Amino acid sequence: MIYQLNANVRNFGETISELSGVDISTCYQCGKCTAGCPVVMEMSHTPNQIMRLIQLGLKDEVLSSPTPWLCASCETCTTRCPKEVDIAKIMDTLRILALKEGYKRKEPNVVAFNKIFLDSIKNNGRLQETKLAMAFNFKTLQFFKDMMLGQKLFMKGKISFSGDAISGVDAVKAIFERSKGFLDKGER
Ligand code: SF4
Ligand code: SF4
Repeated sequence: MIYQLNANVRNFGETISELSGVDISTCYQCGKCTAGCPVVMEMSHTPNQIMRLIQLGLKDEVLSSPTPWLCASCETCTTRCPKEVDIAKIMDTLRILALKEGYKRKEPNVVAFNKIFLDSIKNNGRLQETKLAMAFNFKTLQFFKDMMLGQKLFMKGKISFSGDAISGVDAVKAIFERSKGFLDKGER
């Protein structure tokens, strides 16, 4: 039993380190990452707690946590960590792994937003905000969300329905193709 627990601890921690390229063993729980995180008040587990859970090999608890989905990828934690642990990258890795291993999707609206955002960049080489907002509302069945705000912005010329693809869109698509192998390991 003890041997099995140790094996699981080693495997999960090693998997995260291998996929992210970040050495998780150097975290010594100073809490600086959590102190600087702008969305920590919304998280079920704080960033330093996630680090500790990974070190302890508690895979289910980590991959079931909404925390990685709430992470805004601002990299404040990464910048502040005295041990140079790239926590933002670990959060990315946890999202990919959770999707790959079929953990119930936490914060499904975040998943939907990320997908629509990336599709817009891939197909146009740039973000088309108005189309993104409309696609997001449609996908999440919030048809009238921010409609009045959108109308005001449109009237003031702040947003529009135009926004053609950039001229170098093929180069952007090539980047997505190159990263497809990695994404395939994760989301799809
Ligand atoms: S700042 Fe770095 S060392 Fe400190 S708790 Fe966070 S990850 Fe661990
Ligand atoms: S990258 Fe994520 S976990 Fe790190 S400070 Fe920003 S929101 Fe918090």
